[in-house]
Amino acid sequence: MVLAMPTPYRRIAILGGGPAGATAAATLARAGMDVALFARGKRPPIIVGESLVPAVVPYLRRLGVEEEVASYSTWKGGATFIHDREYTQSFRFNEVRGAKTTYSYNVPRDRFDATILASAQKAGARIIDHTGRGEREPGTQRVRLTDESLAASGFDTQPDFIIDAGGRGRQFARLFDIPTIDGDRRDTALHAHFEGVEVEIEGNVHTDRLEHGWSWRIPLPGRVSIGIVIDSDYIQKFGDSPEEQLDNFLKHDPVIRDFALPATRVTPVMKYTNYQSRATRGLGENWAMLGDAYGFIDPVFSSGVLIAFEGGERIANALLTGTRKALEDYDAETQRSLAAWQRVIRWYYDGRLLTLFKVGNYVENTLIGKMMSFHFRKHMPRIFTGEDATNRYSLGLIDFMVKYALAGNDPTKMQIN
Ligand SMILES: Cc1cc2nc3c(=O)[nH]c(=O)nc-3n(C[C@H](O)[C@H](O)[C@H](O)COP(=O)(O)OP(=O)(O)OC[C@H]3O[C@@H](n4cnc5c(N)ncnc54)[C@H](O)[C@@H]3O)c2cc1C
Repeated sequence: MVLAMPTPYRRIAILGGGPAGATAAATLARAGMDVALFARGKRPPIIVGESLVPAVVPYLRRLGVEEEVASYSTWKGGATFIHDREYTQSFRFNEVRGAKTTYSYNVPRDRFDATILASAQKAGARIIDHTGRGEREPGTQRVRLTDESLAASGFDTQPDFIIDAGGRGRQFARLFDIPTIDGDRRDTALHAHFEGVEVEIEGNVHTDRLEHGWSWRIPLPGRVSIGIVIDSDYIQKFGDSPEEQLDNFLKHDPVIRDFALPATRVTPVMKYTNYQSRATRGLGENWAMLGDAYGFIDPVFSSGVLIAFEGGERIANALLTGTRKALEDYDAETQRSLAAWQRVIRWYYDGRLLTLFKVGNYVENTLIGKMMSFHFRKHMPRIFTGEDATNRYSLGLIDFMVKYALAGNDPTKMQIN
C-alpha cells in the first residue's frame, strides 16, 4: 500500500504475536511503518483455535501463506452438527449460494501461528522475543512501554502507538479498568489431541450437543482435536486434574463416548475458563486493543481467528489513514462485529438455532419452503462461513427466523445444558 497522506503513527509497538498482532504487523510493515512485534517464544504444547471458517482464506492469500498452511493442514469442506444421538446435520461450504470461498482448513495452531508470524517478519516487522509490557503515563489516559520493553523494542524513544494483541490476558483492559460485557455462560473448555477418533464426514468440523455442554471434533493430519465446553461446576465431579476430568467425561457422556472411547490421548489436556467477554471500548489516545485482547465471544462457530485477522487489517489501515475518525471507526466496527457474533451464539445455546435447522429440513420439502430456501441458502449459511457475519440483512433475517419460524417447536429441547 502506498500512503496517500502522512500519518502521525509511523513507529508502532504491538504486544502479542498471535494471528491478530502478526496480521496488523505485516500490513503496517508492508506499508513502510517501523513495527516492533513482541512475540514471546514460549507457547503451550497445543493451542486452541484449529478450525478456520472459509472467510479466513482470503486473509491467508493476502499474507501470501495459503500454500504453506495447506501443506500441513486438513482441508475442510463443511461443518457437521450432531443434535442428539438420532439427528445429525451437515453443511457443505460449496452449497452455500453466493459463497466467495467454498472451503477452509483445520490447522495445527503451533505451525499456523509460526507461519503467520514469519509472514510479518518477511514484510519487515521486527520480531522481539520478549514479553511486551505497557504502563499508564502518570496523570494521562496514554500508555507507554515500560523501560525494559522500550529497551528491548529497538525504538530510541516511545513509539507513536501501542497495540495490545496479547490475547485473553487483556493487558490494557486491566490497565484502564475497562468494564466488559459478558455472555451468560460460565463454562470451562478442556482440549487435547487424540488418535483413533471417528468423524462422520472427513475434514468437517463436528459440533456435538452433549447431555451437558457440547464438544468439538476437529480432524487434523493424523489425529483429531477434541474439546468439551461444559459448565465449570459440573466438570469438577469428574476429577481433580484437567486430564482426569476430560478422560472420565469422555467415558461418561452417552453421545461423545460412542466415538471417543477407543481413542488414545496423545497430548496433555489444556484448560480454558473465563471467556464470553468483550471490553466496552478498545481505543485510547495512543493505544488500541486487538483480537482476543479486545474481546472473545465463544468458540462454538470457530470465529476467533477470523475476528483476529479482520481486526488486524482494520487497525493497521486505520493507523495508515492516520486520523482520529479512522481509529474510532475501527473501534465501532469491532464492537459491532463482536456484538453480532455474540447474538448468534446466544441462539445456539438457547436451542433456537438448532431447532431452526431442524424445522428448515422439513419445510424444504414443501413448495413455499422450496421457494424460500433459495433465499435463505444465500443469507443464513454465510453468517457461519464468516462472509456475512456482520451483514445487517442476513442477521435481521436469522433474527426473524429464530423468533417466528420455529413452527411451534419448543427450542428449550435443543438448548445446551
Ligand atoms: C476453547 C477455545 C476454542 C477455540 N476454538 C477456535 C476455533 O476452532 N477456531 C477459531 O477461529 N478460533 C477458536 N478460538 C479462538 C481463537 O483461538 C482466538 O480467537 C485467536 O487465537 C485470537 O488471536 P489473537 O492473536 O487475538 O490472540 P492469541 O492467539 O491468544 O495470540 C496472542 C499471542 O501473544 C502472546 N502474548 C501474550 N501477551 C504477550 C505479551 N505481553 N508480549 C508478547 N507476547 C504476548 C501469546 O503467547 C500468544 O502467542 C478458540 C478459543 C478457545 C478459548
